[in-house]
Amino acid sequence: MKIGIYPGSFDPVTLGHLDIIIRASRLVDKLIIGVLQNRSKKPVFSTEERVELIERVIASTPELGDNIEVISFDGLLVDFAKKIGATIIVRGLRAITDFEYELQIAQTNHKLYPKVDTVFFTTSVEYSYLSSSTVREVAGFGGDISQFIPESIVHSVYDKFRSIRSD
Ligand code: ADP
Repeated sequence: MKIGIYPGSFDPVTLGHLDIIIRASRLVDKLIIGVLQNRSKKPVFSTEERVELIERVIASTPELGDNIEVISFDGLLVDFAKKIGATIIVRGLRAITDFEYELQIAQTNHKLYPKVDTVFFTTSVEYSYLSSSTVREVAGFGGDISQFIPESIVHSVYDKFRSIRSD
């Protein structure tokens, strides 16, 4: 069984991520979405919230099969890959600026664990500008994020930023 892992911060999950999830899940038998706990990046959404948002998006995306699971992890990606039996790491490439960093990480991961290979999906053109940080910035100022993230989580994401603003 080919198991792939799509790791990321997903703070929060966007339509760009969902596009990669849909395409990658067709390529492998099982796709694990690995939510990085990432304390150093100080995410806006807690690990549990990010997992829950992705699970909700998956449940409300009919074209997805039942071969996807969302799991949070901490520490080295290759250790997590070993633990779950994944041999494919899925990443998205938006622009040339992503490339240098991603190449280095992919080569490092392959050195650390030669059984694992990174597969890159080039972003769909309609999402190439999109990132979680853009969503956070727009939402932080109360702007319209409905065209950036899946409909099923728009209200929760707004609520989160509203509660942050009123703190
Ligand atoms: P990280 O902090 O690991 O970069 P992200 O949640 O920002 O985590 O991104 C996870 C993965 O999704 C990365 O491979 C990133 O390049 C990819 N990605 C992010 N946004 C998009 C997008 N709009 N289209 C395609 N891939 C994307």
